[in-house]
Amino acid sequence: MNKLTIADLDVRGKRVLLRVDFNVPLNENHQVSDNTRILAALPTIQYLLNGGARLIILSHLGRPKGKPAEEFSLRPVAEILGDILKQQVFFSPALLGPVARTAIDCLKDGDCLLMENVRFYPEEEKNDVQFSKELASLADLYVNDAFGTAHRAHASNEGVTRYFDNAACGFLIEKELTYLEGLLKSPEAPFCAIIGGAKVRDKIHVIGNLLIKADDILIGGGMAYTFLKVQGRGIGNSMVDIESTDLVKHTFAEAARLGKTIHLPVDHVIAESFSNEVPTQIVENDIPDGYMGLDIGPKTIANFLSVIEKAKTVFWNGPMGVFEMDHFQQGTFSIAEGMASSSAVTVVGGGDSVAAVNRIRKADAMSHVSTGGGASLELLEGKKLPGIEALAEKENGA
Ligand code: AMP
Repeated sequence: MNKLTIADLDVRGKRVLLRVDFNVPLNENHQVSDNTRILAALPTIQYLLNGGARLIILSHLGRPKGKPAEEFSLRPVAEILGDILKQQVFFSPALLGPVARTAIDCLKDGDCLLMENVRFYPEEEKNDVQFSKELASLADLYVNDAFGTAHRAHASNEGVTRYFDNAACGFLIEKELTYLEGLLKSPEAPFCAIIGGAKVRDKIHVIGNLLIKADDILIGGGMAYTFLKVQGRGIGNSMVDIESTDLVKHTFAEAARLGKTIHLPVDHVIAESFSNEVPTQIVENDIPDGYMGLDIGPKTIANFLSVIEKAKTVFWNGPMGVFEMDHFQQGTFSIAEGMASSSAVTVVGGGDSVAAVNRIRKADAMSHVSTGGGASLELLEGKKLPGIEALAEKENGA
């Protein structure tokens, strides 16, 4: 991680524009139902406030599609953040113009102002130059700590950086990069990567890139059935992605070339339909016609856990089955438990795997739980993330 960080900046008395990911889940009454993302940004916010910055926070929330919409207002988040920080968090209903200017001019050192949802402005997702320039004119310094949007080039995380000499990252992005780049650069061996979930297409390039460093790849979830089908196994009515067949064949060939092992399920929890209400069975090897595989079976769990036990580095993305339904959650929760009790470096890569880890309350037992599903996968695919690329390098900065 060689990006400039907030620790390299002198923030006292400066107006600091901080982009965070407060894209929190809301319940049917539009109340925040989970404040994990707010807590994830807290070390950076507290550091800046303690350092005497005049803090101006930007975030998006939901998909308001470039128009103001009360249900996606960040106003309730200002209150929650104020309660957590035990200080008043001011709120500006406008990002630009006299209302925003006045709110910022009133800030004293150590004050905190949350601006309204950046996605109320269509220019945000278009990475509009003029809009970026106007955002930049609000502050003296810029810090990005929104890892969850780092794979998007938007005005508030990419365009805006062009108008600051020393755009820095916050502690959350620093931690995300340290762990995720660490997997690609210098993972302690044996390194085991566990990939599950539904879509082969979304993750096949991650598998391809991880094969270079990982010793074992464990594949579960719906995507395993495309791999099993390519091996000539019977998969019944399980989900399959025929269009990814060639990519899967290529992945097997690459694994063989590199001397790496791809571990697939050897047994399955099956049912006649995609439902929690129908009887289930466990089958080994082929799945009979008329049935679909909806979770990995007990032998597969044991196989996977024995690989995890020996590993010194473990990365996991994607559930092992339809873990949203009680009958098909054992595989996913067993992997989460196995990782939690391991002394290896354990990294959970966003999305449903994070939800599963939180469901069994094991997040604290992991070395790192990523806050960005899409961003972490793109990084592990070997792609450059525009929101990260735009930040200054340490050598040039401070
Ligand atoms: P992804 O977004 O690719 O990580 O996929 C997550 C989704 O995959 C979850 O909603 C799971 O219910 C689903 N899933 C996992 N295993 C299976 C399976 N065997 N059949 C169908 N869907 C699955």
